[in-house]
Amino acid sequence: MNQEDKVDWKAFGLQTQSVRAGQKRTPENEHSDPIFVTSSYVFANARQAQARFAGEEPGNIYSRFTNPTVRTFEERLALMEGGERCIATASGMAAIMSLAMGLLKAGDHLVCSRAVFGNTVLLFKNFFTKFGVDTTFVDLTDLDAWERAIRPTTRLLFLETPSNPLTEIVDIAAVAQLARTHDCLLVVDNVFCTPALQRPLQLGADIVVHSATKYLDGQGRCVGGAIVGSEALLDKEIYPFLRTGGAAMSPFNAWVFLTGLETLAIRMEAHCRNALELARWLENHPRVERVYYPGLPSHPQYDLARRQQKGGGGIVSFVVKGGRQAAWNVIDRTRLLSITANLGDVKTTITHPATTTHGRLSPEERAEAGIDDGLLRISVGLEDIDDIVADLDRGLGK
Ligand SMILES: *Cc1c(COP(=O)(O)O)cnc(C)c1O
Repeated sequence: MNQEDKVDWKAFGLQTQSVRAGQKRTPENEHSDPIFVTSSYVFANARQAQARFAGEEPGNIYSRFTNPTVRTFEERLALMEGGERCIATASGMAAIMSLAMGLLKAGDHLVCSRAVFGNTVLLFKNFFTKFGVDTTFVDLTDLDAWERAIRPTTRLLFLETPSNPLTEIVDIAAVAQLARTHDCLLVVDNVFCTPALQRPLQLGADIVVHSATKYLDGQGRCVGGAIVGSEALLDKEIYPFLRTGGAAMSPFNAWVFLTGLETLAIRMEAHCRNALELARWLENHPRVERVYYPGLPSHPQYDLARRQQKGGGGIVSFVVKGGRQAAWNVIDRTRLLSITANLGDVKTTITHPATTTHGRLSPEERAEAGIDDGLLRISVGLEDIDDIVADLDRGLGK
């Protein structure tokens, strides 16, 4: 027996959990987490093989079902989110697809906030409708709209807070209350905050989904995802689909994410610090019309953000005076910032939502969604803040 096996990791703080929880040492006594690169596992005898396949004995069979490195990642993230159980997936979208496949059937309905990740909208709008599952999209912050959209067949409420790119925030506890009243489940996409800043399960959400690709990795290396929640929901309703549907996380990626988790809390603190400083500087820049950042007192939901999140997060959006050309000029004049739509990286990235992530919307739809032609979104990285500011100052010009 290893020392770790006796530890109740629930009693420890998030930072301790993130560097230690979930590891089960092998007889080699390795200090760091090993990678189990194996597709299958051997049995002691035919009887054991029979018992494992029949589900009478726990244990590994095949890495589409379970893998020790993936399991360590799952146990660690479950603890950090305060959930009983976590299932790792091949990507963030695989997590969202799998939970919907596991929980929904033809005739069910879901309510989703409008400003969620673009592929989440497409998944619900273009694909789940083919199987008779309809989605109503509502304004994230309008609690009355959430309630009005709920039907007797509504099974899931799905939201992302803060929203992308305008950093709108919803009171998770209030939507969780709505979910309970109407007998549906609340799913929160916690990619922007991560458990280091926000723990939706403690606020009453039933399930948290992640794209591990973003801050959990934190260095822009691997694609992966996760679902966190109760054993009852995950083991009985979602895992049976996943092990059959096959969207499993690779052990190599799980190992990369494990090392990412170790530094998650300190990285998030540093992202928040840089982002706040940048947001303050942008707010005072004469060529900037408006800044969206939950850590600024000028944010319309500043008080809610302070209550619900430990920090403003790493995403800052702002509107440059002069519309699309002015925004493109900022991007094209920068030398340090990476022009990419990815986020949650140690490297600062810059995007023009109107012509990239939101480019397929009509001008009217964009206006309705508040995506101004002069809007830019920055995922603030961990470079020296003076260098990030200097690069944007050059970008904004005189
Ligand atoms: C990236 C992202 C996803 C999808 O994750 P992938 O790992 O790219 O599949 C879902 N939600 C949010 C908020 C994201 O940023």
